[in-house]
Amino acid sequence: MSRTASASRIASIQPSIFSVISELAGRHGAVNLGQGFPDFDGPDLLKEEVRKALAAGRNQYSPSAGVKELREAVVTHQERFYGLRWDPVKNVTVTCGATEGLFAAALALVDPGDEVVMFEPFYDSYVPAVDMAGGVCKFVPLRPPRVAGGSWWFDEAELAAAFGPRTRLVLLNSPHNPTGKVFSRAELEQVASLALKWGARVVSDEVYEHLVFAPARHVPISTLPGMAERTLTLGSAGKTFSFTGWKVGWATGPQDMRDALQSVHQFVTFATPAPFQLAAAVGLGLPDTWYAEFVADYRRRRDKLAAMLDGVGLKPHLTEGTYFVLADLSATGFADDAEFCRWLITDVGVASIPPSALYSEAHREAGRGTARFAFCKTDATLDAAAERLGRAGRIQGAREGRASG
Ligand code: PMP
Ligand code: GLN
Repeated sequence: MSRTASASRIASIQPSIFSVISELAGRHGAVNLGQGFPDFDGPDLLKEEVRKALAAGRNQYSPSAGVKELREAVVTHQERFYGLRWDPVKNVTVTCGATEGLFAAALALVDPGDEVVMFEPFYDSYVPAVDMAGGVCKFVPLRPPRVAGGSWWFDEAELAAAFGPRTRLVLLNSPHNPTGKVFSRAELEQVASLALKWGARVVSDEVYEHLVFAPARHVPISTLPGMAERTLTLGSAGKTFSFTGWKVGWATGPQDMRDALQSVHQFVTFATPAPFQLAAAVGLGLPDTWYAEFVADYRRRRDKLAAMLDGVGLKPHLTEGTYFVLADLSATGFADDAEFCRWLITDVGVASIPPSALYSEAHREAGRGTARFAFCKTDATLDAAAERLGRAGRIQGAREGRASG
């Protein structure tokens, strides 16, 4: 008897676009503005906390829900920034990054056949997580800004049409990867009112909560009336402290949702490496001045990348939050983002992410018109990318130039 090794539930899963692009970038020596990881370290102070924890023997399993220090720091942080009040024992689980939080939440909160509403494009792990739980994704399109410098937007009727009696969950992401959209309070109120109407719960992925550029403001959906009782919020030390490799994330929410997540978490990873949790706890307690400098520094990088893209004819959309810029490909002559991104790596030596990979098969064409560039990079890296992109005539009408040359 012969059987395939892999289970049928993973049949449609492809290698993550972030790994594919980083591998290709490495092979071609391209400057990597693709995968979203800083190419610099976060605060020395936090690295020192890891060393201290290692030396102090904090090297065994932490409690499955996370070390007490981090659960308390998460609670204090949610109250300090958003006025949310949680109990460190009942309402918090520390996860192995937000990726584990998303996967555990899907398995914990979705039954086979349940519908899960999400905006499209979406972060890459959302669909596999829902699929593996047996859920059915209902996509709501985010549409490009109608005016230069405007926000990505959605149609209220299309949002309402995605909900129905089988809606179990909304998977929300604000600030939003890859568009850089920060959902306004009014938009979140629309989502909240539909969740309340249909009795749906919300998982809110807020890993970029501290990467929001004024006048945009981060509003956690759990701060809206009636939503704290039905929203599980995910955070991550990877983004806020520039240590993506530490894989420390957390989930906060009402006890029924948090306990459900905890049930899955205990059998996926059981716990997250203790020394990194302890350092993240110290990070969450850093003063307001640190957070203000963090976002000011990223604002400068955002503006630098946007100006550099603009200068070579890759019109940038406004990034309200996250560390990504979507650039319009119209001037390049490329109609296919994947083809453009491959060419940019091999011929120009700069890596970016093709957003069409972050759309469902049925709607992939909607994602062909932009490429996503990351600005969580040093000035030297951004300058090297600018130098390569800027070499005369490389971008404008690139496709035709290539065809005729
Ligand atoms: N959600 C979004 C929107 C992301 O961009 C990322 C990427 N890093 C994650 C979740 C995963 O976070 P972590 O690295 O903490 O697993
Ligand atoms: N979140 C990162 C991005 O959007 C990638 C993380 C990963 O590769 N899993 O680029």
